[in-house]
Amino acid sequence: MTDAVSRQLFERAQQVVPGGVNSPVRAFRAVGGTPRFIASAHGPYLVDADGNELVDLVCSWGPMILGHAHPEVIAAVRDAAGRGTSYGAPTQAEVELAEAIVERTPVEQVRLVNSGTEATMSVLRLARAATGRDLVVKFAGCYHGHVDALLASAGSGVATLSDAAALATPASPGVPAATTAQTLVLPYNDRAAVTAAFAEHGERIACLVTEAAPGNMGVIEPGVEDGEHFNAFLARTCREHGALFVSDEVMTGFRVSRQGQYGRDGVEPDLMTFGKVMGGGFPAAAFGGRAELMQLLSPVGSVYQAGTLSGNPVASAAGATTLRLLDDDVYTRLDRSADVLRSAVAEVFTEVGLPHVVQSAGSMFSVFFTPADVDRVPDYATAQRQDTAAHAAFFHAMLDAGVYLPPSAYEAWFLSTAHDDVALSRIVEALPAAARSAAAVTTAKRI
Ligand SMILES: *Cc1c(COP(=O)(O)O)cnc(C)c1O
Repeated sequence: MTDAVSRQLFERAQQVVPGGVNSPVRAFRAVGGTPRFIASAHGPYLVDADGNELVDLVCSWGPMILGHAHPEVIAAVRDAAGRGTSYGAPTQAEVELAEAIVERTPVEQVRLVNSGTEATMSVLRLARAATGRDLVVKFAGCYHGHVDALLASAGSGVATLSDAAALATPASPGVPAATTAQTLVLPYNDRAAVTAAFAEHGERIACLVTEAAPGNMGVIEPGVEDGEHFNAFLARTCREHGALFVSDEVMTGFRVSRQGQYGRDGVEPDLMTFGKVMGGGFPAAAFGGRAELMQLLSPVGSVYQAGTLSGNPVASAAGATTLRLLDDDVYTRLDRSADVLRSAVAEVFTEVGLPHVVQSAGSMFSVFFTPADVDRVPDYATAQRQDTAAHAAFFHAMLDAGVYLPPSAYEAWFLSTAHDDVALSRIVEALPAAARSAAAVTTAKRI
């Protein structure tokens, strides 16, 4: 499989764009080699600049849940674009998108923004304004976009780039220590740590923000203890201390069920953030909550928040059409496809003696290249015990066989409704050789 054109483009890109990419994980730094430049995509396939067709298990990091270039989404986009691409004035399309989100989730009102980062940034301001408090609690390995206050021990690209993300110290230069000093970082699934943090700082905590089911340090399952779901515990603890419970569903929203993670655990947050799927492949995101909180925003209230392109008519058309097509059937099909892949991976890895853990939130799942003594990954510290060299070998063998996996051991695998039996069997057929490549370099067995 040649990648000559991708190589040339990467050379050119590096001259004019830092690292040649506009979002770090795309650069393949965690796995080595040259990132594929994509020329087009259809259904479950990407076609790179050299003309190679790859089964796509990234799906734009989640949004392309209906597959690429879905005819109805594209028709809605063409139609909207033909009527002009931005007006800086309200439109029917954004009302429809907001209604679709409100109908599916516990939020009463939403404000549309352009990225998940913007959604979480805005939600922190709102939570701080609503409570008159400054502190924010987050979990190590959870990623909420590149918001200064939340770039403390963050997952996603930060996970692959810095091994030394110490608790509550900025995970990136340029983030003032004074900013992350307002952020408490706790280990995920650790109820004692949450209880202790609230006992000590409860009166100063504006909100606790968590990924509804973490997917940016690999997929971590929120635990259940004494019949109580971790999210229910968090909501209860926040309530007891007058803090707001913020559920970040940018990744899980409309991906793990029609209602997102809320549809799976039923825990009602005070505020929520959405992105990825709801934009239908365009830059669109949202944050929402009870009307009484949302009414604090300008122009009703005094908490300022705005955006030149927010609620963009083309993005709103893509998002609203995508949500309209996401009925319960879709999730049944996605769950079934995920099952096929999860069992194939587990079977093949076991066969070649490659220690691993597979964890899921609905159809969203990830494969951890953990040592043999690990049978569950409850938090970031455990996720960091992965054998990233084994993952890199696996990744490249799969890519050579025409399967495009997330180029990091800390990311979820994403499926779409377009992943049919043909696409799935191409993935399954590529697994044994790739697993053998990983087994050949792993040190995990010897630990
Ligand atoms: C992707 C993601 C974000 C950031 O969204 P962007 O659109 O990339 O800014 C925030 N939170 C979670 C949980 C995400 O997965």
